[in-house]
Amino acid sequence: MNGEKAIIAGAGPAGLSFAYELLRKTGVMPIIYEKENMVGGLSRTFAFKGNMLDIGPHRFFSKYDKITQWWLDIMPIERNSSPGGSFPARNRPAAGAFPESGRKSAMMMLDRSSSIYFLGKFIDYPISVSRKTVRALGVSRSLDIICSYILARILPPKKDGTLESFFINRFGKKLYLMFFKDYTSKIWGVPCGEIDSQWGFQRVRGLSLARSVIDAMKNRLFRGGERHSGKTETSLIRRFMYPGLGSGSFWEETARMVTEKGGRIHLNHAVTGLKEKNGRITQAEVKDLSTGETFTVNGDYFVSSMPVAELLAGFDGPPPEVEGVAKGLRYRSMVLAGVLIDRKSIGSAARGKNGRLVRDSWIYIQDSSLKLCRIQVYNNWSPHMLKNSEDVWLGLEYLCDEGDSLWKTDDRDMLELASDELKKVGFIKKDGVVEGKVFRIKKAYPCYFGSYSQFYKIRGFTDSFENLFLIGRNGMHRYNNQDHAVMTAIAAAENIAGGIKDKKNIWSVNAEQEYHESK
Ligand SMILES: Cc1cc2nc3c(=O)[nH]c(=O)nc-3n(C[C@H](O)[C@H](O)[C@H](O)COP(=O)(O)OP(=O)(O)OC[C@H]3O[C@@H](n4cnc5c(N)ncnc54)[C@H](O)[C@@H]3O)c2cc1C
Repeated sequence: MNGEKAIIAGAGPAGLSFAYELLRKTGVMPIIYEKENMVGGLSRTFAFKGNMLDIGPHRFFSKYDKITQWWLDIMPIERNSSPGGSFPARNRPAAGAFPESGRKSAMMMLDRSSSIYFLGKFIDYPISVSRKTVRALGVSRSLDIICSYILARILPPKKDGTLESFFINRFGKKLYLMFFKDYTSKIWGVPCGEIDSQWGFQRVRGLSLARSVIDAMKNRLFRGGERHSGKTETSLIRRFMYPGLGSGSFWEETARMVTEKGGRIHLNHAVTGLKEKNGRITQAEVKDLSTGETFTVNGDYFVSSMPVAELLAGFDGPPPEVEGVAKGLRYRSMVLAGVLIDRKSIGSAARGKNGRLVRDSWIYIQDSSLKLCRIQVYNNWSPHMLKNSEDVWLGLEYLCDEGDSLWKTDDRDMLELASDELKKVGFIKKDGVVEGKVFRIKKAYPCYFGSYSQFYKIRGFTDSFENLFLIGRNGMHRYNNQDHAVMTAIAAAENIAGGIKDKKNIWSVNAEQEYHESK
């Protein structure tokens, strides 16, 4: 294999871990082309005035011990890593300065704390049996929910074809209408009845009303009991790893190791096409985005973590039915507002016990009158994400379609909307002032609707090229988390190392109809 080259589209988690594994397992040289000016993909970390934010902070969590160890091999846990513990790198340059940044990061262990803004109140999440929850729901509404749940359990459940039937079968109609219906359409931009239930199986399987209440009771009776119970769904487990300088710092470290081992990473370079001959991919067309120059590169293997719809758009003549499916794939995009608040401006909802900042890492906004989907509180992820610990540094997630009115809202209006909605939920005072920066993220979520049900046609076509490998999240159009992205990358590298032609092992990652966090 010495002298062979693998051309890789994308320096996100999948592309970088593929390059890393290829260097460990073979003599093939990985050459990555990344269209952005920084590595990390959707897991990259941005900066604003010395404060850092992820595109939604990324928990490093896997039900597969092999992947947890993979992460720790690259970035060990800092011994004294609790927030406030000793940790390096106070004077860091802006994020994204790879490879010159010289920043040092390390894994921290975090306790998860999150809540839901619902009916104008904040409820703990995972749901706890507490006075606060009953007060928020009201006694008669709580009884209604229980009756409707019992009804759904007694009557033969509907087939789990769509997300709507998935929710009703597990939680009852009342809770579905109150809790899941509007929020899910805010996230996906279409009604639950149009979304394949596969998403539900992978994201909420095993969680039912009964399960949630049992876990909440256990928690109440045995403090921290869930950690000792093998049966508890892992989404209810409260600890996970997080790189102290943001998820991007982990991928910058991986990129550093890849280049140290001889791999190459070209930032600001987009793969714009693939050329095939006799059933093999022979060349990739690449555009240097800083000069506008386009050139072709030869390779022995081609690995794509770029959105599959874009890959096929630049492909040499795919069959029309494959092209049609690729054009029909849908994505959800995100407008992310990084908002910096003077601590004196925070409102009552942002204050926990003793008047200090709430402990929540994130807060779901389950209120259809607000456009906001989720608030991230970076202070509670890592103190090192902030320049000044007296500030409050938030990430506000707004989901939208690329090109819609929210996407096109200009930055000033977006920050005004963010500030307005923070005031409505009581997170900042009425006269509180915010400053911040807006980031627009294309294709944050691959959707399980549009032409998704015919995705097998794309897979059949791309798999017919022995030396072409689709990996990662948008690369495979699958709701893959970082651990899945790494697993698909490892599988592809192992196939190349072992001369395995079949790509079933790559496609089988995260294909189980099984909740992806249950262990
Ligand atoms: C809001 C949000 C929160 C999340 N939270 C978590 C979490 O808590 N834990 C977790 O594990 N995962 C989380 N994820 C998922 C995680 O971000 C993805 O699983 C991971 O980034 C997928 O890696 P990837 O390399 O497959 O894709 P990406 O991260 O999308 O990387 C693909 C790369 O390809 C590049 N690219 C695209 N087109 C081209 C082209 N034509 N040429 C060259 N390069 C190109 C892109 O710029 C990008 O860098 C979250 C995602 C989002 C959106």
